[in-house]
Amino acid sequence: MSNARKKSRKTNRMRKIVLGILTVLFITLGCISWDALAGSKSDSTRGNTTMLKHIFKDRKIGHQNSVGKKDPSKTPLETGKVVYLTFDDGPNPIASEKILSLLDKYNAKATFFMLKPHIEQNLDIVKKMVDRGHSVGSHGVTHQVSQIYKSPESFASEMNDTLAVINKATNSKSHLIRAPYGSKPYITAPFKAVIKRDHFNLWDWTVDSEDWKLANGAFVNNTIQQVNNLVDTRPLVVLMHEKPTTAAHLEKLLEYFQKNGYEMKALHDSMEPIQF
Ligand SMILES: [Zn+2]
Repeated sequence: MSNARKKSRKTNRMRKIVLGILTVLFITLGCISWDALAGSKSDSTRGNTTMLKHIFKDRKIGHQNSVGKKDPSKTPLETGKVVYLTFDDGPNPIASEKILSLLDKYNAKATFFMLKPHIEQNLDIVKKMVDRGHSVGSHGVTHQVSQIYKSPESFASEMNDTLAVINKATNSKSHLIRAPYGSKPYITAPFKAVIKRDHFNLWDWTVDSEDWKLANGAFVNNTIQQVNNLVDTRPLVVLMHEKPTTAAHLEKLLEYFQKNGYEMKALHDSMEPIQF
């Protein structure tokens, strides 16, 4: 065998060895990265489950500002013997006056999230709310899921239209809003973006009186029970509605709060909103 042939065979053997090493290396690397991928997949699944659990838990008790990051310029709500009463869907010409005079009687301040068509028909009531130290905010125009949640822009425009009417009528500058049926599941990331853009302060609640369902006055005890469960651990933001049946039984609730040393305060734009 000539030296040249010997050399070429040697080179061939070297090539085969290098190829073999490379193949083994590729297979090993492939396995490792596949494992890593599979591992990260199961981690993220686990993460999702944990996240879902949190969302579920938060939904039940209410969570502080999940829309956007925590704003250091806003004050957290007080916990302890402070209740923030809120009334949705008004004004209601039959219920509002009674609610307002009861609030005065018990030295209570509250927050009203109202619908544009109802506001336009009852501007005097809206002015009275603000004159008496209550807070006012938007609950939108249509209160219809198919309309208001059609797109982030339809949500923003319903809220902006309503706030414009409120602010003009009361010569104030409220950014308070409440999403019809609450922020879950409708307020997704694109909705959160317009909420941030338009400087809305979106409020959910921690106590659902269920006054829309318990119209016979049972909502009073339902509220008291939930308040007792949450007091000292969570801020107490109570959801009610401007309905004649709510007005008819509200005094019992206000009496309870007064007798038990609760202060009843309004929500303000300076506060860190409670969200599911
Ligand atoms: Zn509503």
